[in-house]
Amino acid sequence: MTSRVLALAAVSLAGVFLVGHAGAATLIAPGIYLIPGEAAANRQPDGNSVVIAAPQGLIVFDTGRHADHSQVILDFARAQARPIAAIVNSHWHLDHVGGNPRLRAEFPDLRVFASSAIDAARAGFLADYRAQLMTEISLSAKNPEAQVSMRAEVALIDAGVALGPTDVIDKSVRLSIAGRPLQLNLEARAVTAGDVWVFDPKTRVLLAGDLVTLPAPFFESACPARWRDSLANLDKAPFTWLVPGHGAPMQRKQFEIYRRAFSRLLDCAAGNAEKADCIDGWVNDAAPLVSSSKDVSYARTLIGYYLDNYLRNTSERIRRFCTA
Ligand SMILES: [Zn+2]
Repeated sequence: MTSRVLALAAVSLAGVFLVGHAGAATLIAPGIYLIPGEAAANRQPDGNSVVIAAPQGLIVFDTGRHADHSQVILDFARAQARPIAAIVNSHWHLDHVGGNPRLRAEFPDLRVFASSAIDAARAGFLADYRAQLMTEISLSAKNPEAQVSMRAEVALIDAGVALGPTDVIDKSVRLSIAGRPLQLNLEARAVTAGDVWVFDPKTRVLLAGDLVTLPAPFFESACPARWRDSLANLDKAPFTWLVPGHGAPMQRKQFEIYRRAFSRLLDCAAGNAEKADCIDGWVNDAAPLVSSSKDVSYARTLIGYYLDNYLRNTSERIRRFCTA
């Protein structure tokens, strides 16, 4: 399993498929549209994308991973007859920045707002993941479909600087992007070394990125304790709707359920309880948010995996996510 540790939330690389699932855009507040990402056990996930209408064009919060997802974003812009003026990336995981190169190719002037954490990730985490992919590709000659999928991952990583920011967010700041005022907030060492979440004062919509993720949080590059602290910062924002990195938009009551479940998972992992009890604890605590049997099953797999590799028996490499 360790050779696949870096396969972002895709517990088995061998099972990834190419079929497309990207959904259409739905209006969640005036001028704010959700393009849902797909997170399923048999395919590398896409994060949610949110498109915000601004005076000078469209702002895209996270661009997904697969080409079919970024195509929905491009088709949406075309249907609206508006340029994409800016991207804001919540964090550098490939299911959130993967569409950046395609959108930039179509709109060469667009600005990309993100933390600089991708620089260290490209030299470390993503380089390691690329090496693992190359090994897996050489070992999976009998599974050409998986090979195609893994080569697409390698190509994404090789896009290099096209994944990263033109405008580095190094502190929480209120900006006018494409003529629209937005509050961008930076969390250091939570899901990654630098996570950006957005609060739109006009609609009171909060874009959380993977700080809020269903059916379970993804801990591959995380500092769990700092992540827990960052959820208190989200709670302070006067939001009406919160869009998670994966999963359906939620209101304050659902966020409170998520936050409590997250905290109790960390407490359980830090204590002496059996692994199965911690998994059951997450499933029970998050039950109002994770209800389909498919999602419950995926959540059980993920939480079990993270307990074994990230929340317990933590290696030096993983402990560094809290300090580096
Ligand atoms: Zn994600």
